[in-house]
Amino acid sequence: MCTNNHPNLHPKLKNFSIFNSFHEILSTNEAAQNFLEELKVIPSRTSVPPNCCDLPMKVEKLSGSKLGWIWRCSTKATKKKSAKCCRKSINPAENTFFEGRMCRISLQDIVAIVICFILQMKVTEVIENLRSWRHQRGDDELSCETVVDYFLRCREIAEIISSHHVGMFGGEGKTVQIDEIFLTKRKYHRGRVTEQMSIVVLGIYCKEDKSGILFKVDGKSKQDLWPYIKKFVNPTTSRICTDNAKQYHGVEKIISSSCTHHTTNHSIAEFVAADDRTNTINRS
Ligand SMILES: [Zn+2]
Repeated sequence: MCTNNHPNLHPKLKNFSIFNSFHEILSTNEAAQNFLEELKVIPSRTSVPPNCCDLPMKVEKLSGSKLGWIWRCSTKATKKKSAKCCRKSINPAENTFFEGRMCRISLQDIVAIVICFILQMKVTEVIENLRSWRHQRGDDELSCETVVDYFLRCREIAEIISSHHVGMFGGEGKTVQIDEIFLTKRKYHRGRVTEQMSIVVLGIYCKEDKSGILFKVDGKSKQDLWPYIKKFVNPTTSRICTDNAKQYHGVEKIISSSCTHHTTNHSIAEFVAADDRTNTINRS
């Protein structure tokens, strides 16, 4: 389904896609790869290789691999018959954001999705644009799941970056909302097997200042959450709002004796949606 290709549409408007604006980066997979190499996000063929068997590994062309090449142990280059042939290889894309050669999505598509994430596009718009763009290239449609999956990864990275913020939220006369958010992460493995993993994110948000922070935490127990609350909620804060989960019972006492605790059904996402859509904890 692609609404951009309606039969009555002017030919020049056919296959319209936002990605055409990023021609230098996105025109081909090679262009996207060059761009990522220039940013030093991925290694290039000229990067310093790792060592194997005390020798620097060599670049070996491997079509079908994510970067089109891998590192290979260079011991096979020796002519001595006695020399042990190790043949060990390293895929430089393995265990990265662009991981694995079994992952169907190309570097070009990944860069396109990251651009959409930065532009704060809605997932549905991204899917529509990607479909049109891939159609133009003669490629198959990407599954919605793949796009959602990459969006979740982008969000996770953004959360980690935002968690480097130092400082406290709330203050005298202010209300701090505390909430947990559960994200489901789909982890790619070789082949079609996928594994779902749930991650807990703690949100601390000052209603008056319309600012907040998210932390990836180990669990939803008091032990997991309270150290963050103590560290990041200003001790002069007047009110703390949480849902009525038992891990929050008595939480106001770690802030101060004058802080009051209110239980509410509002989630941070609702506050943010209502108050400030550009905040970093916007989940849409
Ligand atoms: Zn080796």
